[in-house]
Amino acid sequence: MIGSSVVVRTRSWIVLCLGLLAAGSQAALAGECPGHPDALGTSRTLVVDPREHPRIGTMQYRETLPLKDHEVVLTFDDGPLPKYSYQILKMLDDECIKATFFIIGEQAKANPEGVRKLVAAGHTVGTHSMTHPLTFDRMPLDKAEAQINGGIEWTSAAMTDPSKLAPFFRIPGLMRADGVENLLISRGIQVWSADFPADDWRHVSPDRVYQLAIQRLEAKGKGILLLHDIQARTVAALPKILRDLRARGYRIVHVVPATADLPATPTTPVEWLLHPPTETTPIARWPAIPNFVFTQTSMLPAPALADLNARAEHQPLLPHKTIAQAGVAATLPVPGRDLFAIPEGSIEVLLSTTLSRRAATRMAMAAEAPRAAKGKSASKAGKPRTAHAAAKHTAQAKGTAPRPTRVANSVKKRA
Ligand SMILES: [Zn+2]
Repeated sequence: MIGSSVVVRTRSWIVLCLGLLAAGSQAALAGECPGHPDALGTSRTLVVDPREHPRIGTMQYRETLPLKDHEVVLTFDDGPLPKYSYQILKMLDDECIKATFFIIGEQAKANPEGVRKLVAAGHTVGTHSMTHPLTFDRMPLDKAEAQINGGIEWTSAAMTDPSKLAPFFRIPGLMRADGVENLLISRGIQVWSADFPADDWRHVSPDRVYQLAIQRLEAKGKGILLLHDIQARTVAALPKILRDLRARGYRIVHVVPATADLPATPTTPVEWLLHPPTETTPIARWPAIPNFVFTQTSMLPAPALADLNARAEHQPLLPHKTIAQAGVAATLPVPGRDLFAIPEGSIEVLLSTTLSRRAATRMAMAAEAPRAAKGKSASKAGKPRTAHAAAKHTAQAKGTAPRPTRVANSVKKRA
């Protein structure tokens, strides 16, 4: 236990020292930017091996550069065009920022001096085809290859030292296709997409370019920003973007290709994902939920008494078995009309249940007296059972048959 705590303490000291070292180097770097003490600077150089990670940029691919939170890589396409490219070059120089430029062969052919300036300033230079056709997703492979070769040929021809050309390629318009990508990868060329553009090739204001650059960067927290050094709006937007990057605590990373003398920066595969799963995301490590089939449920049989080890002598202790009847109607039959009729003569019974015995006897005697008076006619035809029957009986006894009402007749006719 003592040993492990010593290890932990030593580790935290190492982490602390490394942190101070990193902070110190960044401060020193800003200080190293002559005449610009508040420069954004370049926080580190990332060396990548195109063969290990051939496609990068989450706009199109699973992997992107292994950047840490708040790290940004600036990329500029379609140059060089002296009118604007040189202004951008000056801004980056003033901030001591190193970026990556994707050169069009025709532009390099027309402005070889522009390519040499980029290399001299220490920027990374990759290529972006010969004439920038926006048909890479459907052009024949041999034509795509000619475009790739033309870009490389004219860009390297503009360089004093062609070995400075990075094996990085960005497909014009990001019009990717498997065949083109495979061709590039087979030649050890890394395919660069981006993590977010700022739409600076569209007819938008410089302020909009600035807003999109920052908003999209903030949404991802880090990544490769795609800009164009041939646009006036990009020239106008860049100072504000760089100022805001510094204010928000972003750090610029310079990317260079690995060579025989310069090995790739050690990374783990998971660092090449924009948002790799972390230890704090336990759900990613939990087993998958089994695939229950709820539609195939079946009822278990109800236990029989025998299942409960109920013996004959114990049966009185258990609830009586009820016999379930299948096919019993869900509703009870409608009761007969005379179900609620009070039988004549049962008034004594009714009264005896609701009144005191003395009161009941008195009332029963009172009820008996008039019945006894007309008992003869009643006894002739027998005792009618209900009040309705009694009325009918009385009517029949008088010889007058019940007639339907006039209303009933008129309704019947109309029907
Ligand atoms: Zn382009």
